Amino acid sequence: MLFSGNLIKLNSQYLVPVKYILKSSNQSLIINDLIGQRVKISFNGTINCIHCARKMRKSYGQGYCFSCFQTVPQASPSIVRPELDQSHLGISRDMEWAKKNSLVDHYVYLAISSSLKVGITRYTQIPTRWIDQGASKAIRIAKVPYRQISGLLEVELKKNFADKTNWRKMLSNNIDNGINLLDERDKAHKLLKKANFSDYLIDDQVTEITYPILNYPEKVSSVNLDKTPEIEARLEGVKGQYLIFEGGQVLNIRKHNGYYVDISVVK
Ligand SMILES: [Zn+2]
Repeated sequence: MLFSGNLIKLNSQYLVPVKYILKSSNQSLIINDLIGQRVKISFNGTINCIHCARKMRKSYGQGYCFSCFQTVPQASPSIVRPELDQSHLGISRDMEWAKKNSLVDHYVYLAISSSLKVGITRYTQIPTRWIDQGASKAIRIAKVPYRQISGLLEVELKKNFADKTNWRKMLSNNIDNGINLLDERDKAHKLLKKANFSDYLIDDQVTEITYPILNYPEKVSSVNLDKTPEIEARLEGVKGQYLIFEGGQVLNIRKHNGYYVDISVVK
Protein backbone atom coordinates (compact mmCIF):
# COMPACT_ATOMS: atom_id res chain seq x y z
CA MET A 1 0.00 0.00 0.00
CA LEU A 2 1.43 3.39 -0.99
CA PHE A 3 -0.96 5.44 1.12
CA SER A 4 -3.61 4.58 3.64
CA GLY A 5 -5.33 7.56 5.23
CA ASN A 6 -7.65 10.55 4.86
CA LEU A 7 -7.52 12.47 1.61
CA ILE A 8 -6.51 16.11 1.90
CA LYS A 9 -5.93 18.86 -0.66
CA LEU A 10 -2.77 18.04 -2.59
CA ASN A 11 0.31 19.92 -1.63
CA SER A 12 2.10 21.42 -4.64
CA GLN A 13 5.54 22.71 -5.52
CA TYR A 14 5.97 25.20 -8.31
CA LEU A 15 8.36 23.26 -10.57
CA VAL A 16 8.23 22.48 -14.30
CA PRO A 17 6.00 20.56 -14.25
CA VAL A 18 4.25 21.11 -10.91
CA LYS A 19 5.09 18.49 -8.27
CA TYR A 20 2.08 17.16 -6.36
CA ILE A 21 2.31 15.48 -2.96
CA LEU A 22 -0.43 13.85 -0.89
CA LYS A 23 0.50 14.31 2.75
CA SER A 24 -0.92 13.00 5.99
CA SER A 25 0.56 13.21 9.48
CA ASN A 26 2.91 10.29 8.83
CA GLN A 27 2.81 9.62 5.07
CA SER A 28 3.91 11.48 2.01
CA LEU A 29 3.10 10.25 -1.50
CA ILE A 30 4.54 11.97 -4.58
CA ILE A 31 1.69 11.73 -7.06
CA ASN A 32 3.92 12.51 -10.07
CA ASP A 33 5.61 9.12 -9.54
CA LEU A 34 2.31 7.33 -10.18
CA ILE A 35 1.63 8.95 -13.54
CA GLY A 36 1.60 6.39 -16.35
CA GLN A 37 0.87 3.56 -13.92
CA ARG A 38 -2.33 1.72 -13.13
CA VAL A 39 -3.52 3.17 -9.83
CA LYS A 40 -6.18 1.83 -7.50
CA ILE A 41 -7.98 4.10 -5.03
CA SER A 42 -10.47 2.50 -2.65
CA PHE A 43 -12.68 4.44 -0.24
CA ASN A 44 -13.56 2.39 2.83
CA GLY A 45 -16.69 4.37 3.74
CA THR A 46 -15.18 6.40 6.58
CA ILE A 47 -15.10 10.20 6.40
CA ASN A 48 -13.34 12.16 9.16
CA CYS A 49 -13.65 15.90 9.71
CA ILE A 50 -10.41 17.60 8.62
CA HIS A 51 -10.57 19.84 11.70
CA CYS A 52 -11.73 17.67 14.64
CA ALA A 53 -11.36 14.16 13.07
CA ARG A 54 -14.92 13.22 14.12
CA LYS A 55 -16.45 10.47 11.96
CA MET A 56 -19.31 11.74 9.81
CA ARG A 57 -21.75 10.64 7.13
CA LYS A 58 -21.46 13.74 5.00
CA SER A 59 -18.96 16.58 4.85
CA TYR A 60 -19.65 20.30 4.61
CA GLY A 61 -17.48 22.97 2.98
CA GLN A 62 -14.92 20.47 1.62
CA GLY A 63 -14.13 18.32 4.62
CA TYR A 64 -15.76 19.70 7.77
CA CYS A 65 -18.36 18.17 10.09
CA PHE A 66 -21.45 20.37 10.44
CA SER A 67 -20.33 21.75 13.80
CA CYS A 68 -16.87 22.78 12.55
CA PHE A 69 -18.37 24.13 9.33
CA GLN A 70 -20.39 26.55 11.47
CA THR A 71 -17.60 27.57 13.81
CA VAL A 72 -14.06 27.35 12.35
CA PRO A 73 -12.69 30.49 10.66
CA GLN A 74 -11.43 28.45 7.68
CA ALA A 75 -15.08 27.77 6.76
CA SER A 76 -16.55 31.22 7.36
CA PRO A 77 -18.65 32.87 4.60
CA SER A 78 -15.87 35.40 3.93
CA ILE A 79 -13.66 32.61 2.58
CA VAL A 80 -15.92 32.42 -0.47
CA ARG A 81 -17.02 36.06 -0.35
CA PRO A 82 -14.05 38.11 0.93
CA GLU A 83 -16.02 41.36 0.72
CA LEU A 84 -17.99 40.09 3.75
CA ASP A 85 -14.88 39.81 5.91
CA GLN A 86 -15.10 41.99 9.04
CA SER A 87 -11.87 41.17 10.79
CA HIS A 88 -10.55 44.71 10.17
CA LEU A 89 -13.44 45.80 12.43
CA GLY A 90 -12.41 43.28 15.08
CA ILE A 91 -15.19 40.84 14.13
CA SER A 92 -14.23 37.26 13.29
CA ARG A 93 -14.90 33.67 14.34
CA ASP A 94 -11.34 33.67 15.67
CA MET A 95 -9.37 36.93 15.86
CA GLU A 96 -6.03 35.17 16.36
CA TRP A 97 -6.56 33.25 13.14
CA ALA A 98 -7.79 36.41 11.41
CA LYS A 99 -4.62 38.30 12.37
CA LYS A 100 -2.52 35.73 10.54
CA ASN A 101 -4.85 35.03 7.63
CA SER A 102 -7.19 37.97 6.97
CA LEU A 103 -5.38 41.03 8.31
CA VAL A 104 -2.40 40.47 6.03
CA ASP A 105 -1.60 41.48 2.46
CA HIS A 106 -3.85 40.02 -0.21
CA TYR A 107 -3.45 40.02 -3.98
CA VAL A 108 -6.06 40.46 -6.68
CA TYR A 109 -5.12 38.53 -9.82
CA LEU A 110 -6.19 37.58 -13.30
CA ALA A 111 -5.69 33.98 -14.40
CA ILE A 112 -6.39 31.79 -17.40
CA SER A 113 -7.66 28.40 -16.32
CA SER A 114 -10.24 27.69 -19.02
CA SER A 115 -10.81 31.29 -19.97
CA LEU A 116 -10.00 34.54 -18.19
CA LYS A 117 -11.02 34.96 -14.55
CA VAL A 118 -10.44 37.29 -11.62
CA GLY A 119 -9.59 36.07 -8.12
CA ILE A 120 -8.02 37.06 -4.81
CA THR A 121 -5.72 35.30 -2.42
CA ARG A 122 -3.57 35.79 0.67
CA TYR A 123 0.01 36.78 -0.19
CA THR A 124 1.42 33.43 0.99
CA GLN A 125 -0.77 31.54 -1.49
CA ILE A 126 0.98 32.64 -4.69
CA PRO A 127 1.35 30.53 -6.83
CA THR A 128 -0.39 27.76 -4.80
CA ARG A 129 -3.84 29.22 -5.37
CA TRP A 130 -3.24 29.35 -9.14
CA ILE A 131 -2.02 25.75 -9.19
CA ASP A 132 -5.09 24.63 -7.16
CA GLN A 133 -7.32 26.20 -9.81
CA GLY A 134 -5.43 24.64 -12.71
CA ALA A 135 -4.42 28.02 -14.17
CA SER A 136 -1.97 27.93 -17.07
CA LYS A 137 -1.08 31.62 -16.74
CA ALA A 138 -1.69 34.28 -14.11
CA ILE A 139 -0.69 37.80 -13.11
CA ARG A 140 -1.12 39.83 -9.94
CA ILE A 141 -2.79 43.18 -10.57
CA ALA A 142 -3.33 44.71 -7.11
CA LYS A 143 -2.02 44.40 -3.56
CA VAL A 144 -4.17 45.36 -0.57
CA PRO A 145 -3.51 45.34 3.19
CA TYR A 146 -6.35 43.04 4.31
CA ARG A 147 -8.91 40.56 2.99
CA GLN A 148 -12.08 42.66 2.85
CA ILE A 149 -10.54 45.24 0.48
CA SER A 150 -9.49 42.49 -1.92
CA GLY A 151 -13.14 41.47 -1.98
CA LEU A 152 -14.24 45.01 -2.83
CA LEU A 153 -11.84 45.12 -5.79
CA GLU A 154 -13.00 41.70 -6.93
CA VAL A 155 -16.66 42.71 -6.75
CA GLU A 156 -15.82 45.73 -8.94
CA LEU A 157 -13.97 43.59 -11.49
CA LYS A 158 -16.67 40.91 -11.56
CA LYS A 159 -18.83 43.41 -13.41
CA ASN A 160 -16.49 42.88 -16.39
CA PHE A 161 -14.56 39.65 -15.70
CA ALA A 162 -15.70 36.12 -14.91
CA ASP A 163 -14.75 34.62 -11.54
CA LYS A 164 -15.38 30.93 -12.18
CA THR A 165 -13.42 28.20 -13.90
CA ASN A 166 -15.07 25.80 -16.32
CA TRP A 167 -13.39 22.68 -14.90
CA ARG A 168 -14.38 20.49 -17.85
CA LYS A 169 -12.60 22.83 -20.26
CA MET A 170 -9.67 23.26 -17.87
CA LEU A 171 -9.18 19.47 -17.61
CA SER A 172 -9.51 18.75 -21.33
CA ASN A 173 -7.08 21.59 -22.06
CA ASN A 174 -9.74 23.48 -23.98
CA ILE A 175 -8.18 26.84 -23.20
CA ASP A 176 -8.78 30.24 -24.69
CA ASN A 177 -5.30 30.98 -26.08
CA GLY A 178 -6.20 34.33 -27.56
CA ILE A 179 -6.05 36.17 -24.25
CA ASN A 180 -3.20 38.60 -23.59
CA LEU A 181 -2.92 38.92 -19.82
CA LEU A 182 -1.01 42.21 -19.97
CA ASP A 183 -3.77 43.81 -22.06
CA GLU A 184 -6.37 42.45 -19.65
CA ARG A 185 -4.35 43.75 -16.70
CA ASP A 186 -4.40 47.23 -18.29
CA LYS A 187 -8.18 47.01 -18.74
CA ALA A 188 -8.61 45.93 -15.12
CA HIS A 189 -6.37 48.76 -13.91
CA LYS A 190 -8.48 51.31 -15.79
CA LEU A 191 -11.66 49.98 -14.20
CA LEU A 192 -10.11 50.02 -10.74
CA LYS A 193 -8.84 53.58 -11.18
CA LYS A 194 -12.34 54.72 -12.08
CA ALA A 195 -13.63 53.06 -8.92
CA ASN A 196 -11.03 54.92 -6.79
CA PHE A 197 -8.80 51.92 -6.08
CA SER A 198 -5.68 53.47 -7.72
CA ASP A 199 -3.58 53.15 -4.55
CA TYR A 200 -3.56 49.37 -4.72
CA LEU A 201 -2.53 48.74 -8.33
CA ILE A 202 0.74 46.88 -8.99
CA ASP A 203 2.79 45.76 -11.97
CA ASP A 204 3.81 42.13 -12.24
CA GLN A 205 5.16 39.56 -14.70
CA VAL A 206 3.00 36.77 -16.08
CA THR A 207 3.55 33.43 -14.32
CA GLU A 208 3.21 30.30 -16.47
CA ILE A 209 2.35 26.93 -14.99
CA THR A 210 2.93 23.50 -16.53
CA TYR A 211 1.17 20.41 -15.18
CA PRO A 212 2.36 16.80 -15.13
CA ILE A 213 0.05 15.30 -17.76
CA LEU A 214 0.75 12.56 -20.32
CA ASN A 215 -2.51 12.83 -22.23
CA TYR A 216 -5.42 15.21 -21.91
CA PRO A 217 -8.85 13.57 -22.17
CA GLU A 218 -11.29 14.78 -24.81
CA LYS A 219 -14.22 14.41 -22.48
CA VAL A 220 -14.16 14.30 -18.69
CA SER A 221 -16.49 12.69 -16.17
CA SER A 222 -16.20 13.40 -12.48
CA VAL A 223 -15.92 10.49 -10.05
CA ASN A 224 -17.81 10.69 -6.76
CA LEU A 225 -16.37 8.26 -4.18
CA ASP A 226 -19.75 7.98 -2.42
CA LYS A 227 -21.22 6.44 -5.55
CA THR A 228 -18.04 4.85 -6.96
CA PRO A 229 -15.89 3.83 -3.96
CA GLU A 230 -13.23 2.19 -6.11
CA ILE A 231 -11.26 3.52 -9.07
CA GLU A 232 -8.70 1.45 -10.93
CA ALA A 233 -7.22 2.99 -14.06
CA ARG A 234 -4.02 4.37 -15.58
CA LEU A 235 -3.24 7.78 -14.10
CA GLU A 236 -2.68 10.25 -16.95
CA GLY A 237 -1.81 13.28 -14.87
CA VAL A 238 -2.77 15.93 -12.36
CA LYS A 239 -4.13 19.44 -12.91
CA GLY A 240 -5.54 21.78 -10.29
CA GLN A 241 -6.76 19.45 -7.55
CA TYR A 242 -7.88 16.76 -10.01
CA LEU A 243 -6.36 13.37 -10.74
CA ILE A 244 -6.97 12.59 -14.42
CA PHE A 245 -7.38 8.92 -15.37
CA GLU A 246 -7.45 7.22 -18.75
CA GLY A 247 -10.83 7.47 -20.40
CA GLY A 248 -11.40 10.90 -18.88
CA GLN A 249 -12.43 9.92 -15.35
CA VAL A 250 -11.35 12.71 -12.99
CA LEU A 251 -11.21 12.75 -9.18
CA ASN A 252 -11.40 16.09 -7.38
CA ILE A 253 -9.23 15.45 -4.32
CA ARG A 254 -10.30 18.59 -2.46
CA LYS A 255 -13.97 17.66 -2.77
CA HIS A 256 -13.12 14.38 -1.02
CA ASN A 257 -11.16 15.93 1.87
CA GLY A 258 -11.45 13.62 4.89
CA TYR A 259 -12.37 10.48 2.90
CA TYR A 260 -10.32 7.51 4.12
CA VAL A 261 -8.71 5.75 1.17
CA ASP A 262 -6.14 3.12 0.30
CA ILE A 263 -3.96 3.93 -2.71
CA SER A 264 -1.86 1.34 -4.49
CA VAL A 265 -0.26 0.65 -7.86
CA VAL A 266 -1.59 -2.37 -9.74
CA LYS A 267 1.10 -4.27 -11.64
ZN1 LIG B 1 -15.29 18.79 12.96
